[in-house]
Amino acid sequence: MYDAIIVGGRVSGAPLSMLLARRGYRVLCVEKDRMPSDTLSTHYLHPAGVARLRNWGLLEAVEQSACPRITRFEAHRDGQVMLEPFGRDASGRSQYALCPRREILDYVLWEAAGAAGAEMRDRTRVIGLLTNDEGVVSGIEAKDHRKRDVTEQARVVIGADGIHSLVAGVTQPETYMELPPLLCSYYSYWSGVVTEGVETYFKPGAAILVFPTHHDQVNIGAAWPAARFREVRKDVEAVFLETLREVAPALSERVAAGERQEPFRGTRELPFYRRQPFGPGWALIGDAGAEIDSTLGLGITKAFTEADQMAIALDIALSGKQPFAQIMRQYQEVRDEGQDLYLQANLAASRYIAGVSG
Ligand SMILES: Cc1cc2nc3c(=O)[nH]c(=O)nc-3n(C[C@H](O)[C@H](O)[C@H](O)COP(=O)(O)OP(=O)(O)OC[C@H]3O[C@@H](n4cnc5c(N)ncnc54)[C@H](O)[C@@H]3O)c2cc1C
Repeated sequence: MYDAIIVGGRVSGAPLSMLLARRGYRVLCVEKDRMPSDTLSTHYLHPAGVARLRNWGLLEAVEQSACPRITRFEAHRDGQVMLEPFGRDASGRSQYALCPRREILDYVLWEAAGAAGAEMRDRTRVIGLLTNDEGVVSGIEAKDHRKRDVTEQARVVIGADGIHSLVAGVTQPETYMELPPLLCSYYSYWSGVVTEGVETYFKPGAAILVFPTHHDQVNIGAAWPAARFREVRKDVEAVFLETLREVAPALSERVAAGERQEPFRGTRELPFYRRQPFGPGWALIGDAGAEIDSTLGLGITKAFTEADQMAIALDIALSGKQPFAQIMRQYQEVRDEGQDLYLQANLAASRYIAGVSG
């Protein structure tokens, strides 16, 4: 019997596994993908996310992988350029952002959870939840990497399993603040493109986002109103380059001097929602519990914040200091209040790009 089983081992599931294991709990984390591996996401990690990596003792491991520090952020909008102020933290350290590739960031987190004592099983897909006679979730049913049936029991099962969360699908939590996608997005990687930091270009109808990442490469993403997804998908490269020329002409020339290194990847699955993040024997974290679309690059920093907050709440519940439902209700309030401002700013930016008012 585990204290906690965590379904999904990326930016929400791996740190939560690590933090619970560091507190002495018996933790199993199951991930359907092979680790390390990439996932559909660009890379902006806000200074607050960098600070959490530092607190967890993992910043050096991420930076050692030649991930450039971001100390300049240009936001182009309405013909104006705004520079994001990277100030100093309470210890006087200059703040900065990072844009790590997900196969690198996620694996640093995965390995750290294992080093903390969590049992990390990749290539294991959860296919159902076990419940006891009182209807309380008590474990998982899964298929391991050899397609063998596996069942495991735990005091709590946490879905860190993303927007198509199986845990949310089975437990059917109340969903609120739900909005369909406003935008669709595609991105790729270029070498030979000169950048001084992050650049964003927002206009009604399209956006371009530039993230310097590992290997001297630059990740460039574009977003359009969701209704354009089919048309964009038909010839991504042509639409992407045309958008680049229209929205950011000077950048377009720098991109023309470089070379694209990978195929385009994209999605129209960029919804907004919040789900009640707990019920009898289960909890939800990261995109499984609350989703904000990718316009302001909040998802990873949000997942890190939730991991710290949920580790405290679960510690209080698992050690018997407060009933599970009582402390998880507090977790939900803190999660939602803490994210309100960012959600509103992100929503406003996405609406602006989508060309919708209100
Ligand atoms: C196009 C795009 C661009 C983005 N850009 C940014 C950005 O610049 N900055 C930023 O902060 N955020 C960005 N995001 C958002 C960010 O990627 C997510 O918020 C973040 O990945 C959520 O982390 P998570 O751990 O909750 O879920 P995920 O990263 O989705 O991980 C969930 C994991 O659960 C596993 N899983 C699912 N079901 C099962 C199962 N049944 N059994 C076992 N394992 C399972 C999956 O394999 C997956 O590895 C972007 C998203 C998109 C789509």
